[in-house]
Amino acid sequence: MTVTSRISGFHKLNLQQRRDRVAELVGLEGEELEALCGRESLPLEIANLMIENAIGTFSLPLGLGLNMRVNGRDYLVPMAVEEPSVIAAVSFASKLVREAGGFFGESTDPIVTAQVQVTDYGDPNLAQQRLFAARDEIRALADTFHPSLVARGGGAREVEVRLLPAPEGPSGEPILVVHVHIDTRDAMGANLVNTVAEGVAPLIESISGGRVFLRILSNLTDRRLARSTCRIPFHLLDDGEWRGSDIAKGIHQASRFAEADPYRAATHNKGVMNGIDAIAIATGQDWRAIEAGAHAYAARSGRYGPLTTWRLEDGHLVGRIEVPMAVGTVGGPIKVHPGVQAALKLMRIESARELGVVIASVGLAQNLAAVRALGSIGIQRGHMALHARSVALTAGARGDWVEKIAAMLVESGQVKVEKARELLASLKASDGAAA
Ligand code: NAD
Repeated sequence: MTVTSRISGFHKLNLQQRRDRVAELVGLEGEELEALCGRESLPLEIANLMIENAIGTFSLPLGLGLNMRVNGRDYLVPMAVEEPSVIAAVSFASKLVREAGGFFGESTDPIVTAQVQVTDYGDPNLAQQRLFAARDEIRALADTFHPSLVARGGGAREVEVRLLPAPEGPSGEPILVVHVHIDTRDAMGANLVNTVAEGVAPLIESISGGRVFLRILSNLTDRRLARSTCRIPFHLLDDGEWRGSDIAKGIHQASRFAEADPYRAATHNKGVMNGIDAIAIATGQDWRAIEAGAHAYAARSGRYGPLTTWRLEDGHLVGRIEVPMAVGTVGGPIKVHPGVQAALKLMRIESARELGVVIASVGLAQNLAAVRALGSIGIQRGHMALHARSVALTAGARGDWVEKIAAMLVESGQVKVEKARELLASLKASDGAAA
């Protein structure tokens, strides 16, 4: 089935019309539609089995990022996020990129690393050599813990032995760590890898003569990367007020700034993660793991830098993202949470690698929207219009008055709660007078 992500006028429909449109587009109905768009996508009895001490569930707005095209395929992007403007921004940027052919991406094999730290091993070089010589034995043992993963084409790929300088200086014992790199296929893999880390520890102790304390995965999954790129001719960036080539220059300057300055890079990456986290939450991913991996990767050179870059190449603005992407389409809460199942069905995702490339593209689109506004008119104009609704809600407006007061706030140039209260009071007074 071909599904388009280009649904013009979607934001102008009311909530019920949007749900009907989505249902019709992707063939969701009944419980599945309810699980995706219903008031409560997670039944209490399932929530109670997912975590300890459950007392309820916590809701976030779920919206659709539109216009996303990756590797020639359209994706409706489910996004769970509390911040206004994120979904409008990603849809806007995806539309621009779509006109230029869409995003093109790829991912590496889904390799996650088990870390086993060895202590009290005596001679560091000897222990390292012994472990190195036993690589095949360790790898073979690792594969015995997950035969079904091996049957699916995954499993242990490589064993590495690392000797790191002691943090206290030369007087301390160097840190000896064994890495087992494991292909976790369509699983995020933390549990799978942790089982391996604990399983191979006794063998590592007996080979090295040392003692193992820590054995767990690394969230710096730098062998499990997703990449995406887009190439936009300058003229597509024209917005009637600014020339496309000037907007492209502003975006390039934003990239240079983030590449040179960690203070800017942190904010640049926060914008990238606005998109990545929102889709990660909606699709049941461990977004803390994705966040940890992204920021550690951003600092891999020794200085924190941006996850995306923007270059000017032959009359085009070229954006690139490369980010660790430990995501799954099985495992953890994914098969348990009905809303997550419906979100993955909405996306028609077939593998964790495919999902990772779409998530990276969403991050790049989100960043494009932010740096485009920052490098030209600034973000406040668009942001404030959307923020005004939250301000009106905070001031107590409900129903039709929310949009009305939001528009008045923007018009007044004062998007503030006090101003919204004032407007609400005068609307109530004139409503009372009319009655
Ligand atoms: P999991 O334990 O559910 O394992 C995945 C299961 O899916 C395995 O039983 C596997 O055999 C099965 N499977 C079915 N089809 C598969 C396929 N096509 N490819 C791969 N496996 C397939 O889940 P997991 O992914 O190992 O662990 C993820 C969970 O671990 C998340 O909930 C995460 O929050 C949690 N966690 C994270 C950390 C961390 O990031 N530091 C630490 C501990 C736990």
